[in-house]
Amino acid sequence: MTYLPTYNIFDMALKQFERCATLLELDQPTRDFLKTPLREYHFSLPIFMDNGEPVILKSFMVQYNDARGPTKGGVRFHPSETIDTIRALAMWMTWKCAINNLPLGGSSSGVVFDPHLFTAAEQERICRGFVRKIAHFSGPQWDVLGPDMMTSPQHMLWMLDEYEIIHNKKVPGFITGKPINQGGSKGRKEAPGYGAMVIVSEVLKDLGIEISKTRASFQGFGMVGQHAAQLYCQMGGTISSIACWNHSDRSAYTFFKKDGINFEQLISITNQFGEIDKEKAISLGYECLPGDDWLSQDVDILVPAALENQIRQDNFDKINPRVKVIIEAANGPIDLEIDSQLKERGIIVVPDILANSGGVICSYFEQVQGNMNYFWSKEEVLSKIATQITSAYMDVSNFAQTYQVSLRDSSYMLAIDRVARASHERSWI
Ligand code: NAD
Repeated sequence: MTYLPTYNIFDMALKQFERCATLLELDQPTRDFLKTPLREYHFSLPIFMDNGEPVILKSFMVQYNDARGPTKGGVRFHPSETIDTIRALAMWMTWKCAINNLPLGGSSSGVVFDPHLFTAAEQERICRGFVRKIAHFSGPQWDVLGPDMMTSPQHMLWMLDEYEIIHNKKVPGFITGKPINQGGSKGRKEAPGYGAMVIVSEVLKDLGIEISKTRASFQGFGMVGQHAAQLYCQMGGTISSIACWNHSDRSAYTFFKKDGINFEQLISITNQFGEIDKEKAISLGYECLPGDDWLSQDVDILVPAALENQIRQDNFDKINPRVKVIIEAANGPIDLEIDSQLKERGIIVVPDILANSGGVICSYFEQVQGNMNYFWSKEEVLSKIATQITSAYMDVSNFAQTYQVSLRDSSYMLAIDRVARASHERSWI
């Protein structure tokens, strides 16, 4: 896990906000309002381990802004989770929904623990304990939970089940990312990675580059990275390396193959946490390189799909001169401080709030299908996601060209403007 001691992700989110608020000439009360979460909760979460020992975990929930509709946000399980990460994710989710014109606000929540170290029964108690804390502050018309890092459909179902027990009724709209046979949407697993690659194909079209002539390097091979990698390979691209975490070595590695990875083969040696088996990969002919080496590969596209603050001043020089596009499939993977240097090098950055918004688009579709009690095929869901995210990309790209700003600034300006307008319409400010 690479966190620099002075790095605070919410500070970075606020800097992004301030920069775009200035470009939008937003008045001070509106700025002050949009810089602050509407509500945030800190919980102490006691659970019993299988051996009967109690353990006290920390958990957080931030409901950032609901001017455009009920808040919506992912739940993370991660040992390095902090309230500031959750604040930043909730703020970003607010912009993400706005940029796609979804009738939703933004939230985020998390429990500070490492699922690798807990049995399934202990994880179930954590899910249920967490929901007992939040059950009266959330719900389908108020705040809807979905998956994020290290939360699976099984976790989401345990959370839903506990919520329904507490409220004594069926409330499928409280959770998205449910298992398919329990009201989940087909395509939810694929959605964030799929959406990111739909945008990559649009960007390459704009650049006049054929995808089959491109190479990419990935960081992260979990839910987002895997499905992005799969679609990129299907579209004809070549992936030369994928970096991921190795829990037993407590280190990240980059798995490299000059002629390109074999997606199906790598999936078959990857565990449920998105960790590629090092020994098996080496025996299949992959070179096992240091964790940061995914940045220095001779590729056109970098796909950070793991976690925040992964491309920074201290490793910026590692980026290969061939790189033309970075698609932020993860949330906050690039330190804002190096945005201008990336621009100087002519690298196009597709910001997270647009790039990985396929996830929340599909979560919204899951709610829509649940409300109708009629479910679409996976092809229909994915094609609707492609239509929606392409239209958001077009809005952002046209705005960027008109006002001569980056895709990041353009995305934030569009989103902030929509949330500011909704807050004004409600006479909140
Ligand atoms: P995941 O837990 O399924 O996978 C995470 C991947 O990152 C794994 O392959 C893991 O090995 C790798 N990883 C972790 N630490 C690493 C390190 N230090 N170096 C290299 N690799 C490392 O998580 P996910 O759901 O795929 O989420 C990935 C990112 O995408 C996060 O930023 C998340 O917030 C964002 N995101 C997730 C969703 C979603 O629906 N799951 C939606 C939008 C955005």
